[in-house]
Amino acid sequence: MEGCDNCLAYGRVVEGKIVLPCQNCALENNWMWNGKRCYGVSVFVGNKEEATINELVQCLYFEIREREGIKEIAKKNNISLDEYCKTMIPEEARVYYDELNEHITEISN
Ligand SMILES: [Zn+2]
Repeated sequence: MEGCDNCLAYGRVVEGKIVLPCQNCALENNWMWNGKRCYGVSVFVGNKEEATINELVQCLYFEIREREGIKEIAKKNNISLDEYCKTMIPEEARVYYDELNEHITEISN
């Protein structure tokens, strides 16, 4: 529970202690921070607020999912891109991911 440069730059720090980490550190810490469920800082709001579960899913879906490196890892591990993406969000967020995915698929058809 140390935090990284991103935590210091984008997260919330109180008296030298990271009280709100970056999303990556939240993920690495199994979505727990200071003994509480934590989704990391929102990349959308930009005012050091904690991400909502929807923001977390949207960030993953619209930003991370599109990265070539992510597509390559999924391919290498022989799982679908969506299955791989869902390993990067907490269990309770996966239903939101599926809903968003369904919605996007629907409107793009
Ligand atoms: Zn961090």
